[in-house]
Amino acid sequence: MKVARRVSELRGFLAEPRRVGQVIGVVPTMGALHEGHLSLVRAARAQSDLVVLTIFVNPLQFTATDDLASYPRNEAADLEVAEAEKVDVAFLPSVEQMYPEGAQMTVSTGRLGEIVEGAARPGHFDGVATVVAKLFNMTNPDFAFFGQKDAQQVAIVRRLVTDLSFGVDVVVCPTVRESDGLAMSSRNIYLSQSERARATVLWRALQRGRNLYRSRASIEQIEGAMAEVLAGEPGVTIDYAKAVDPATFGRPVGNGSALLAVAARVGSTRLIDNLPVDHEPADREGG
Ligand code: AMP
Repeated sequence: MKVARRVSELRGFLAEPRRVGQVIGVVPTMGALHEGHLSLVRAARAQSDLVVLTIFVNPLQFTATDDLASYPRNEAADLEVAEAEKVDVAFLPSVEQMYPEGAQMTVSTGRLGEIVEGAARPGHFDGVATVVAKLFNMTNPDFAFFGQKDAQQVAIVRRLVTDLSFGVDVVVCPTVRESDGLAMSSRNIYLSQSERARATVLWRALQRGRNLYRSRASIEQIEGAMAEVLAGEPGVTIDYAKAVDPATFGRPVGNGSALLAVAARVGSTRLIDNLPVDHEPADREGG
């Protein structure tokens, strides 16, 4: 596995593979790798000749109240895992590499970046879109792999690709969960033992929402019931519980499918989760 820390090194590693027509897949992450990330790497491995894994804790997507300073970083372990998963190139740029002195230009995500998760984290999605656009320009991939876990990020990246004309195919992989339903997340390590037990409430709220969606309850009933499940768990503060259209994050369009999205604080750790739902019971996450 090659390790690039500078943009010029990355471009150097990719020049020859691209010249001979290799299919390049990129997996953008912030590191502290877990099985969710690895599912993306494995999807990339299956679909690409050359897999690029990027690890960058992007300061631009953290708001003032977020956990930038304490965000888990574990470079040595991440590189070992990447090697074992047959990543071809790991890209671990410094902040200075990604945002050169005097940087001013960013991507503006418009209304989609301001609602739901964007309302809770102002500026977050502009930071995401900016770093993803830069990573696309640096790697010029055929495919880019993202997790359903961050559903609004998926919607943002899809719009980014369409609106700014990136020639990249976005592949979305299903959310990987612990056996009790908790979505894997680098932030789960912040949870104490009792908080970890309570954190399954997000998954329980989503399942309650899915049952109601299937029984054709109204959006208001579904959102109310998910909020009730979250509120019923001690030590959990609800941020939002919504049923939305998965592309616009506005009201579901009534075509028999929707996305349920929840965010809550468990103790002081903010967790998000979501579940794509269908009126028919053959729900599949991701896709
Ligand atoms: P992060 O390191 O949190 O920025 O995540 C990097 C990528 O991994 C994003 O596309 C996430 O959506 C994806 N991801 C994170 N957690 C999971 C999970 N539990 N299942 C599937 N994908 C995930």
